[in-house]
Amino acid sequence: MKIHEYQAKAILARHGVPVPRGEVALSAADAAAAARRLGGTVVVKAQIHAGGRGKGGGVKVVKAEEAEATASRMLGMRLVTHQTGPAGQIVERLLIEEGLQIARELYLGLVLDRSTERPVLMVSPDGGVEIEKVAEETPDRIFKEYIRPGAGLGAYQTRKLAFALGLSGPQIGEAGKLMMAIYDAFRATDASLVEINPLIVTGDGHLLALDAKMNFDDNALYRHPDIRDLRDPAEEEPLEVEASKFSLNYIKLDGTIGCMVNGAGLAMATMDIIKLAGGEPANFLDVGGGANAEQIRNAFRILTSDANVRAVFINIFGGILRCDVLAEGVINAVKELGVRVPIVIRMEGTNVERGKEMLESSGLNFTTADTMSEAAERVVAMAN
Ligand code: GDP
Ligand code: MN
Repeated sequence: MKIHEYQAKAILARHGVPVPRGEVALSAADAAAAARRLGGTVVVKAQIHAGGRGKGGGVKVVKAEEAEATASRMLGMRLVTHQTGPAGQIVERLLIEEGLQIARELYLGLVLDRSTERPVLMVSPDGGVEIEKVAEETPDRIFKEYIRPGAGLGAYQTRKLAFALGLSGPQIGEAGKLMMAIYDAFRATDASLVEINPLIVTGDGHLLALDAKMNFDDNALYRHPDIRDLRDPAEEEPLEVEASKFSLNYIKLDGTIGCMVNGAGLAMATMDIIKLAGGEPANFLDVGGGANAEQIRNAFRILTSDANVRAVFINIFGGILRCDVLAEGVINAVKELGVRVPIVIRMEGTNVERGKEMLESSGLNFTTADTMSEAAERVVAMAN
């Protein structure tokens, strides 16, 4: 799960990470009031779940008196950055912060490294810009320390990283404290990522998190209701939000063939075979191993409410989910929703003969296929 910058900064501040003074604003009037309280130079920052806002026009350094006008231009705008995709994201919230003198822009990231099964703390003296570019072009400018969970982050590790950042004097101790606080926040919240880009050295020589991003492990959210409450559905794909209500694993894609599949492995294979047949999947929809007729109906409704879908491919292995239950769910859904796009069904497994009979005698227009490749070719032809 992702959260906004202002929410991440509040969490980090509670764990002792220094962040700029600032307030969230939902209207231009809020922004004006916040800017008046901060005074001097302020920064108006669009709050969307994507980075690269600076380059896209979502971060503006202005005089406090200008904050209201800047805020009213930014609120409601469709912000496009290299991370949002071409559709962009509508700005609904702003963060109004004190403007700071920046002497240096550094990078700090803490993520779980799956290959070593440890959190890895990464820093780079080349912060502020796209860190992906640094990783690609000058990987030797990224310094890493792996953290043994039992021992925690060692002071010697923070010193090594502080030296690598080119810090000196009292900044070494400050960086150590900041890194410890970041690790503390990461562990306490079951975060999967904390990223500070840029971590700045201020004009008067102090370290501060100027930007903040936190992601959390969805599987641990049950023990963090306060973090779960920070979820912003406006940032998520509406159909994905709808699907999650029915425990359906749905991800919207850009193609024209709607896929309904049980099991993530079969979903991957289905997308591959659609591509092989020359088509493009409109989504990834895994109804799970033990879906019932009601879930199938909702899955179908969500799938066909995507305007891009021109044909539907149902590819089911009937293990726990029996083929007759699937057929019942699909028939009910089509009767109720009046689906207009062609539907190709390939199923295999428990009660497959009974399932096929039900589809055939339903009087509805289904195309059935015995193999995955035959089904894929048919559905691609229909979508085209
Ligand atoms: P991102 O583009 O979405 O990663 O947003 P950031 O929060 O990282 O802001 C982008 C850039 O705006 C930073 O790298 C800074 O150069 C600049 N910026 C942000 N806040 C301030 C500030 O208080 N003062 C100054 N001078 N620049 C700022
Ligand atoms: Mn940033």
